[in-house]
Amino acid sequence: MRADDVWKSFGDRTVLRGVSLTLHRHEVVALIGASGSGKSTLLRCLGLLEPIDDGQIFLGDLDISDPRVDGNQVRARLGAVFQSYNLFPHLTVLGNVTLASRVVHGVPKKDAEARALHLLDRVGLADFAAVHPDRLSGGQQQRAAIVRAIANDPEVLLLDEITSALDPELVGEVLELVRSLADDGATILMATHEMAFARDVADRVVFLDDGVIVEDGPPTEVFGAPRHPRTKEFLARVTG
Ligand code: ADP
Ligand code: MG
Repeated sequence: MRADDVWKSFGDRTVLRGVSLTLHRHEVVALIGASGSGKSTLLRCLGLLEPIDDGQIFLGDLDISDPRVDGNQVRARLGAVFQSYNLFPHLTVLGNVTLASRVVHGVPKKDAEARALHLLDRVGLADFAAVHPDRLSGGQQQRAAIVRAIANDPEVLLLDEITSALDPELVGEVLELVRSLADDGATILMATHEMAFARDVADRVVFLDDGVIVEDGPPTEVFGAPRHPRTKEFLARVTG
């Protein structure tokens, strides 16, 4: 997936100012930056949840920012998980995980459920398949949301601060799942506040500052020897 000179404003507030970013297959990229720097907006634009004002976004060879492209078809090739409120409260966990498979991808119910149960089992949630999300802890809910996002083998997984609404003791189980997906070769772009995790798991770290990417490199470089003063300031503040 590739963003090429992407611009995005809300009213007279310009949030993304010419963002260019390439996410290679099997790559895990951590997107870091202060609150309000545009991380969520970038992820939402990449996931076609928000239209862009200028620039292009490619998924493979397809320019998905072209208004003639069928957005639903593109979104079906992506997986996304946000901070909170990911699951539909009126559906069971199994219902949540199989919804897109059945409705969007036309997978027969039996097959969709078999695959969902296999994935839920893998993340230790098989026993919760038949219950509604409000019976799950926050960490279990996020793991179920991740299972839902990967159920249809997305080409890219977009994760937006998926642990920041969790109690500290629940963060680890969610990050462990992300790590195992990364180990399995998933392509992941994740906005995160978890610097230790980013350093550990990401192939690249991208620092977004007020809608501009000012640093993009391997974690050892971005964390160990940041080039831009704004990156140094930010890291000093968050790792302080
Ligand atoms: P981050 O995820 O890095 O905290 P966001 O992308 O959420 O940053 O927000 C960047 C800026 O865009 C903020 O100033 C925010 O208030 C503004 N913004 C985000 N979404 C909207 C929206 N739908 N309407 C108006 N302003 C928005
Ligand atoms: Mg955000």
